[in-house]
Amino acid sequence: MFDETDFFIIPPFKNEVYIDPTDDCTRSKMKEAIAMVRSQGKEYDLLIGGRHYSTEKRIISTNPADPDEIIGRVSKANKELLNRAMESAYDAFRSWSRLPAHERVRPFLKAAQIMRDKRFELDATMILEEGKSWIEADADLAEAIDFLEFYSREALRYAGPQPVVQIPGEVNELKYIPLGVGVVIPPWNFPSAIMAGMTSAAAISGNCVLLKPASDSPVIAAKFVEILGEAGLPDGVVNFLPGSGSEIGDYLVEHPLTRFISFTGSKEVGLRINELAAKHQEGQKWIKRVVLEMGGKDCVVVDETADIEAASSGAVSSAFGFQGQKCSAGSRIIVVENVYDETVRLIKEKTEALTVGDPTDPDNYMGPVINEAAMTKIMNYIDIGKKEARLVTGGNHIQGKGYFIEPTVFADVPPEARIAQEEIFGPVTAIIKARDFDHAIEIANGTEYGLTGALYSRERDRIERAKAEIHVGNLYFNRKCTGALVGVQPFGGFNMSGTDSKAGGRDYLLLFLQAKSISEKIL
Ligand code: NAP
Ligand code: MG
Repeated sequence: MFDETDFFIIPPFKNEVYIDPTDDCTRSKMKEAIAMVRSQGKEYDLLIGGRHYSTEKRIISTNPADPDEIIGRVSKANKELLNRAMESAYDAFRSWSRLPAHERVRPFLKAAQIMRDKRFELDATMILEEGKSWIEADADLAEAIDFLEFYSREALRYAGPQPVVQIPGEVNELKYIPLGVGVVIPPWNFPSAIMAGMTSAAAISGNCVLLKPASDSPVIAAKFVEILGEAGLPDGVVNFLPGSGSEIGDYLVEHPLTRFISFTGSKEVGLRINELAAKHQEGQKWIKRVVLEMGGKDCVVVDETADIEAASSGAVSSAFGFQGQKCSAGSRIIVVENVYDETVRLIKEKTEALTVGDPTDPDNYMGPVINEAAMTKIMNYIDIGKKEARLVTGGNHIQGKGYFIEPTVFADVPPEARIAQEEIFGPVTAIIKARDFDHAIEIANGTEYGLTGALYSRERDRIERAKAEIHVGNLYFNRKCTGALVGVQPFGGFNMSGTDSKAGGRDYLLLFLQAKSISEKIL
């Protein structure tokens, strides 16, 4: 596709455009794709050094809208296979790490193209495996493609000459080189975007990867790994190792040959990885690098100067897009007293207008939550909320096969309540009353997290104050607090939300590189 003479003519990065689910042609293509995915062979193997391995133990990936429907049976890695993968990855690293950047990016750009070609199949896989609505599934896929395209350009930039001062009598340069073999552990909630973004960033920088997909979304990950192979990625660069995090996670993290761990998921697991990775193991020659992106308790703040109609719509879509299962979900809506009652009324009205049901039907805005354990956990938080606050709407599990929960709004929630402090990760939001703008900012900053936040206000001074005072990694004004775009809003949070990696930004690849300074005396 590109060679060293023309790689610089790759056009500037542009975000992928989403499908339009109201378009007739799109509708028929997606329906066909859903039927096709339903009829596909459902066995998925491990991939180690380009070789397939199937094992007896399987992850059975099911459809959360109908848990009787099996989307795939995915072989699980064991310790012996993990060790084999580590060896294969180091074998591959010898040549992969030395390839010029323009050769390393080629398979990733090709993979982006294959993903566009297979767009409906990949969207349909997420609709069925995850309960994503069409638009959420397509946004997830578009973001995955964006990551491949964006990081390809970034890899070329980091490979280019870096500015260092030259002194007489020497030639000085600084080169970014990869780290080694790393473990990539993504969450299930952006099963294409985050999984592909984390994997490609590490690999495109010249590292080799052991990818352990989330156990709720191994099929979409298996399809991505197949696509990388089809795109010509050399064997052993990305190895596919499904398995339960609680069974194989520690082993991967503690392995003395693991050079880095790139993790996105819950605070509990992230902190555990941080601790285990910090401990030196026999034979380990480095300090492991750890990139951790964790949870959120994100807020939408509404002041008395805001467009209340727009603020309520933004709050509702922040809270309930993909059933509230986003790290960026607006799980706290902080409203100043003067406009509180009116805002609560509008939020109730807009929430009650949301449709919930099987996401294979594009007219359903919300689908099921991911699995039974999540449903139990969310219903438990709803019970807690009923004691801590006033239930405005929702609050029920919708009877039937799938894990459907009504979009649920609590009002009059004390800022210190558990439902205002703990990440619920489901369709539950907490409206909190603030005395005034100062109090609203204090509440906004009053959790251990710091991922996203939005302020609806028409007051310039307040917008400027909020820029300085709301302590979150991604801050938005007069729009929702979800939906960060690659390149446009580099993503990552403060405090217990993680190491602020800023995925989709110019600093991200640096996390998978180390700089080597080289000086040659002129003879
Ligand atoms: P999770 O339960 O922490 O799992 C994340 C990944 O870690 C999965 O692949 C999981 O494997 C694995 N894992 C579990 N235990 C492990 C262990 N002991 N060692 C190593 N890996 C282990 O999180 P999740 O439920 O998938 O995702 C939801 C969470 O992710 C929420 O907290 C959300 O806020 C956060 N999130 C953050 C961001 C961000 O950018 N900050 C983005 C998306 C999601 P199994 O699936 O096999 O258990
Ligand atoms: Mg599933």
